[in-house]
Order: sequence, then structure tokens, then C-alpha cells
Amino acid sequence: MAKIGFIGVGNMGRPMATRLAQAGHGVLVFDVSTEAMDRMAGARVQQARSVQDAARGVDVVVTMLPAGSHVRSVYLGPRGILAAADPDTLFIDSSTIDVETARAVAADATAAGFAMLDAPVSGGVGGAEAGTLTFMCGGPAEAFTRARPILEAMGRTIVHAGAPGAGQAAKICNNMILGTTMIVVGEAFALAEKLGLDAQKLFEISSKSSGQCWALTSYCPVPGPVPTSPANRGYKAGFTTAMMLKDLRLAQEAAHQVGAVTPIGAAAAALYALREYAGFGPEDFSGIIQMLRRQS
Ligand code: NAD
Repeated sequence: MAKIGFIGVGNMGRPMATRLAQAGHGVLVFDVSTEAMDRMAGARVQQARSVQDAARGVDVVVTMLPAGSHVRSVYLGPRGILAAADPDTLFIDSSTIDVETARAVAADATAAGFAMLDAPVSGGVGGAEAGTLTFMCGGPAEAFTRARPILEAMGRTIVHAGAPGAGQAAKICNNMILGTTMIVVGEAFALAEKLGLDAQKLFEISSKSSGQCWALTSYCPVPGPVPTSPANRGYKAGFTTAMMLKDLRLAQEAAHQVGAVTPIGAAAAALYALREYAGFGPEDFSGIIQMLRRQS
């Protein structure tokens, strides 16, 4: 069993660190929020006093932070974890961040003699609690092999996507598919409603036809057809509109940097931005159908 430093025990990090401890690993946690640290009290983990404290004397460091700026500040500089860790420490960053930062931090880790993976996740807080997350990993094959048994304590599907940054690339491409298809599924149900077509009938037909997609069959944005979807609980998240917007903006940023053409992704980002501006940032992203219904 490994000794693991876990930095960032918020909504996702708390259940992930808890699962590592439950699997028998020795876990040392740190978060700048005292509230987040207090919430770890019941779990069988030790509490560190700083990010550097959490990175010293451990085999592996996992980070689960809000954005690229936090990842840079935790990893880099004289007070960062690369400056404090023992030789041979493996770094796994599971935050969803921009590809450029993921590559820059991985390059600094490599230059300092460490192995590092970007390993963002899909599956949300529910997946983190159940230990069924999907990890998309970017980095050297040896780092992936070392990380796999650690990631298996927190996830079910663990994929080596390629070189540093490939995990983040996979995450934003996947969420661009999800964010855009959710909007068009919402548009289809709004149109059906205006045409007098019953939502359940549209679901029955499209879920078995060429319109079939995850946004429709697993996360249907109208109440009824998929009882577990947020539409059945007033669009309580789930995966918030603010988080979907964050990921779509990361996708747009990456597309601009490499000259990729993503007009539908850009339109989706603009629509979720409007939804957030209207005060629905904390609501599930599938609630975007409400905006389309009002407009149609
Ligand atoms: P969160 O805000 O609940 O948790 C992040 C934690 O990091 C907070 O507790 C914060 O205090 C801590 N933190 C910030 N700066 C720090 C620092 N310098 N040192 C130590 N701790 C610091 O966010 P979350 O929902 O847990 O998401 C974490 C990451 O996972 C994000 O990148 C998010 O995009 C991604 N993600 C979230 C979900 C989800 O459903 N919540 C799903 C997939 C991916």
C-alpha cells in the first residue's frame, strides 16, 4: 500500500481521498479551506499543515483543484510541491484544467526528475463516492503503470490517452460532445412540445433511432423518460451549468490555440454563459432546456 498526499479535498477530492484510505493506503490531506479540512474529520486520513507538508515523505501526490492557476501555484515555485517532494514521487493531477498548463507543469515536474500524469475525471461527485470514476490520463507509459493501482481505488475505467496533456484534451473534447448534444436534445423536446408530440413517444423513438445519444438516453432533459435524470428533481445538479461552461470555455481556449474549427462548441459556450448569467450557474446543465422552451 502507498503513502499518498492528497491536495484539494472539496466536493470531488473528499470522496476520492476517502476511498483511497478505505482501500488501505496511508492518506495525508491538505486543503486551504478549513471547512473542507473539517469535513475530512471522520475519514481515516491524516491532516497536513501545508501543500509542501502533504507532499513530503509520500510515494504519490494527487491534486484535485479548481483550475489551472491553482495547479500552477500548488506545484511550482519555492513553496510548491515539486520543491518539497522526495525523489521518485509520482504526481497525479486530477483537476480539470487547460491543456497548456497541464503540459507546462508536467514539463517542470519532468525537469525536476519526477513522473507526472494529468488524469482528469468524468463521473461527478456520485462517481467519486461510488469509486466508479473514469480517469483519462496523459503522460509517460511508466507513470501510467505506476498510477493505475492508485486510480483503481477511485475509478472503474482508467485509460491512457497519450502524452502529457492528452488526459485534459480527452476531457474537454468529451464534454464538448456532451454540452452540445444536451442543447440539441433540449431543442428537439421543445420543438416536439410545440408540434404536439408526446415527450415519452419522442424518447421511445429517438432512443432506438439515429438520434440516440447519452444526453437523451441517460440524462434526458425532460421529466419522465429517464427517472434518474436531474429533470425529475427540478434540475438539481448533478453537473452544474457553471462547470459545463468552464469545460466548454477550456475547449474554446484550446481550439483557438491550435486553430481548430468548433462553431457548435462556441455556440454552446455562449448559450451556457447566458444561462449562468440568468442565475442558473448552480443548476444542472440539462436545465438549459428551460431557456429553449421559453424562447420557442
Ligand atoms: P471544489 O471547489 O469543491 O474543490 C476544490 C478544492 O480545492 C476546494 O476545497 C479548495 O479550497 C481547494 N483548493 C484551492 N486552492 C488550493 C490550494 N492552493 N491548496 C489546497 N487546496 C486548494 O471543486 P470540485 O467540485 O471538487 O472540483 C475539483 C476539480 O474537479 C475541478 O477542476 C472540476 O472542474 C473537476 N471536476 C468536478 C466534477 C464535479 O462534478 N464536481 C466532475 C468532474 C471534474
